[in-house]
Amino acid sequence: MLRLPAWSLSAGRVGHRLSLVRHPQVKARDLLPGNPVTVAALLLAPQDALKALRPPERRLQLPARGEAQALAGLRQDGEVLRPEVHADDAWLSRVRGSPAPAEVCWSGNWLLASVGPAPSRAGKDVIAHSLPNCDLWGMTGIYWHDSALTHVTPPGHPERVARAEAVHAALSELEGLEWHDAPRAARAEVERCHPARHFDRIEAAIPESSFVALDADTHVSPGSLDAALHAVGGCNAAVDAVIAGEARTAFVAMRPPGHHAETETAMGFCLFGTAAIAAKRALDEHGLSRVAVLDFDVHHGNGTQDLLWNEERTLFASSHQMPLYPGTGAAHETGAHDNVLNAPLAPMTGSAEMRRAWGDIILPALDDFAPELVIVSAGFDAHASDPLANLNWTEQDFAWVTAAICEVAEAHAGGRVVSTLEGGYDLAALAASVAAHVIALREHIG
Ligand SMILES: [Zn+2]
Repeated sequence: MLRLPAWSLSAGRVGHRLSLVRHPQVKARDLLPGNPVTVAALLLAPQDALKALRPPERRLQLPARGEAQALAGLRQDGEVLRPEVHADDAWLSRVRGSPAPAEVCWSGNWLLASVGPAPSRAGKDVIAHSLPNCDLWGMTGIYWHDSALTHVTPPGHPERVARAEAVHAALSELEGLEWHDAPRAARAEVERCHPARHFDRIEAAIPESSFVALDADTHVSPGSLDAALHAVGGCNAAVDAVIAGEARTAFVAMRPPGHHAETETAMGFCLFGTAAIAAKRALDEHGLSRVAVLDFDVHHGNGTQDLLWNEERTLFASSHQMPLYPGTGAAHETGAHDNVLNAPLAPMTGSAEMRRAWGDIILPALDDFAPELVIVSAGFDAHASDPLANLNWTEQDFAWVTAAICEVAEAHAGGRVVSTLEGGYDLAALAASVAAHVIALREHIG
């Protein structure tokens, strides 16, 4: 199965889509907003755009003349595809002999397909028609590792192995996801946000058998450090992949969760601040300058807030039930640089209040912040069926908020969204809500 990493951007007119499948010599960073080689530049003036590449990329082949003309002809049509394939004659004749979509032509290494004004799915239809052996959906990554099953908590504990099994089963039912191993993070990754002594304390607490309680809620078993490191490593790998353009969106289906872990304190079922660590990695390793971390878990992400409180390159925004554990998350907690935004929700409220909080407060702030990457702390315990809290969200609400987040990411961040599992303790609601969330991430690919 050939993998086609791809970008899909909204074109100038409503109803038009532009898709660009990466040529092996086009570097992902060349397609980031602000770079001279944007999709639009390639469409409108490919020769000029390619000449503007920085010196190391000058080796990129300039497109053949015929292709430039074809590109010019596509300005208003909608769809341009550039697969990483070298087709043989039989393949070409099959493509050329195919009925609609409208127009497919081949030039050098480049395949161009025009499908005219089209719904977003049309680009996929073109690829499906032209490249039957391609994986058309390889743009939403799922990061998983079996160590999610080795972090064992005491009997009756809500944050349990069965959660990972339920999430894995729900995602396995879905098509169009690209599964990846969540690698084990090095301790240096954890130390982006936590001091070495925090790591040492967790490591020293890991028992040879059974469990050890770090506090009334948070336990470790022999497999816990491994699981937590694979959760951190999975989220980091997802960030690396979306920044490299190997995926557009990603979901990290790992446990233990992370958003309650403060700088030096494991708490609330969490050992390391997975989402905050991934945000720091994006800033410090990849050179991004604005990363948003959004948290719709029903509990306030006090840990993420603590870890990013002084980090002016991030926006941390959270909706959560209040009052509820851990007690933080009042609207007046705004970070050292006005970089924290809390939108508490009253108990027993549901879709309308949640959509107001996100639609009127969080999403406009996200839009103003103009993130280059969005990381989501995706907890599903605001669901009406959840036993640990009293909000009344539905699966459709999780789909709605996901799509709304993706829309802002589309406008500013090239659509890059990495989501990592936090809470959600009713297994059926968790499974259905994760599925709704990941389908929204996948559909957003367009
Ligand atoms: Zn929670």
